[in-house]
Amino acid sequence: MSSFPYHGVDGHVGNTPLIRLRRLSELTGCEILGKAEFMNPGGSVKDRAALGIILDAEEKSLLKPGMTIVEGTAGNTGIGLTVIGAARGCRTVIIIPETQAPEKITLLRTLGADVRTVPAKPYSDPDNYNHIARRLAEENGWFWANQFDNTANRLGHYQTTGPEIWNQTDGQVTAFCASIGTGGTLGGTALYLKERNPAITTICADPYGAAMWSWFTNGHTDEDDGDSVAEGIGQSRVTANVADIPVDKAFRVDDQTALAILMQLLREEGVFLGLSSGINIGGAVRQALEGGPGQTIVTILCDSGHKYQSKLYNRLWLAEQGLNPEKPLESLF
Ligand code: PMP
Repeated sequence: MSSFPYHGVDGHVGNTPLIRLRRLSELTGCEILGKAEFMNPGGSVKDRAALGIILDAEEKSLLKPGMTIVEGTAGNTGIGLTVIGAARGCRTVIIIPETQAPEKITLLRTLGADVRTVPAKPYSDPDNYNHIARRLAEENGWFWANQFDNTANRLGHYQTTGPEIWNQTDGQVTAFCASIGTGGTLGGTALYLKERNPAITTICADPYGAAMWSWFTNGHTDEDDGDSVAEGIGQSRVTANVADIPVDKAFRVDDQTALAILMQLLREEGVFLGLSSGINIGGAVRQALEGGPGQTIVTILCDSGHKYQSKLYNRLWLAEQGLNPEKPLESLF
């Protein structure tokens, strides 16, 4: 081991700053803080899951340098696995639904992943992207990351995201809010924060069309009405990373609300984010309004807007979705 205090990118996942969201904090009388996960080496919160899964698999001798990692992913986990995998001597095969932002698919190819786009199918269909990844692993002797049901994902957040938020707020955090793709972020962070202080309110922010609001509110995974264009979130089943996690409540946040938040942050605060971050912040604002002033509410800024310029930051595309980027933030209160 070198005695220099320097590491490769796999040594620089996490330890992201907490950014104060000024306008929303002023409007609500709370401190609304966003964990800047877009500053991770692969550009998203999923670097933590990727590193957690890779380290766990290495420890269990399921993964060694020279091996191939295969995963079904909406994009960010694939990017994390490819970047961190490269640093640890592994290549990746990425199965991604063709509905995902083209920037992610191009980026994955540029990073060196073997990318295979597939038609978007529900989990119940044998040709869902996750099942394809599992089958390819079995057929080729590859390592399947299995981010949805491999709890090394939430363990990564339990060991890093949770302690970082606790330390960065000097234990003053009163609420934590995150949306669910796999549930690794919300699950691992909620488990850690509740252990430190059970009075911390843990919240799921759910897009329309997903089942997590319904699961935490009434114990059923009935599909919710409506739809969302948010990528990477919107879960219809209780994954292993979600099972038994201490979540106090859930809020549904619509895409227009999330978009108004993103546009305000971009224009007035120089913070450039993807839509799942807007859903998360929308949940934090709902908690601020429900619980009243004086709270310290932490949420996750999952990734930046770079990968969504052809969609979320394209006026024509937004108009096709019936979304209005000019709607003022204040009209949502
Ligand atoms: N936002 C984005 C942009 C994502 O890609 C993901 C992961 N798919 C999430 C949020 C949700 O994170 P998690 O899988 O930890 O629930």
